Amino acid sequence: MIVLVLASGRGKRMGLEMPKQYAKISGSPLLSWTLDALAASQFITQILPVIHSEDTVYYNQLKALPAKCIPPVFGADERFQSTLKGLQSIAIDNPDYVMIHDGVRPFVSQDLIKRLVTSATKGGSAPALPIQETLRRKTDEEAFTDVDRTQFYRIQTPQVFPFNALLDAFERFMNENPFPPTDDAGIYSWAGYPLTYVEGCPINIKVTTPADIAFCERVLK
Ligand code: C5P
Repeated sequence: MIVLVLASGRGKRMGLEMPKQYAKISGSPLLSWTLDALAASQFITQILPVIHSEDTVYYNQLKALPAKCIPPVFGADERFQSTLKGLQSIAIDNPDYVMIHDGVRPFVSQDLIKRLVTSATKGGSAPALPIQETLRRKTDEEAFTDVDRTQFYRIQTPQVFPFNALLDAFERFMNENPFPPTDDAGIYSWAGYPLTYVEGCPINIKVTTPADIAFCERVLK
């Protein structure tokens, strides 16, 4: 299966001069950890990085890219547009399935990939995690009210989809612009295609802040 690795974001919340996917974690850029983790999967045959056109210098500096990596394509301003550009670039190959992963989730596990691939025989599949902490809604400056946390899930990547269905969902979404874009699974479901959720993985974090980098370094120690 081919995996699109989305790495075209600007990562402003990190406050670094370079985008967060190129920040060093235990000596290697974050994106390299992610690419290596995906390359280790027997289910993944090709990796297509979707990078920003201004980041080619950083990308070309990545050392020892996995052999499964094919030349990157450029993303766009919004994440869902980056996904669509990646999908369009492989449409000529007409793959049966495609996996989509955030380049800033370096701790994707082999177990999670297996759960997703197994479940994708029924359609799309995405990882979900229940909320374990108490959840409250801020109602004004001072006040919070309790929310029933059992109604909420955190959705992660990777996500796996039948390729033609996902491309159709994205092209319809672009034309109809029905609501602000969500994740890939949200767009796929909106188009009426069946999606199954599998159990996500708590350590599969989306690196967003400097504290997340510190967390990754502790995990890798
Ligand atoms: O911004 P956020 O952390 O939600 O982005 C999730 C992933 O999507 C990141 O790996 C980021 O590089 C990627 N992305 C992208 N194109 C964008 C925005 C985000 O490929 N325009």
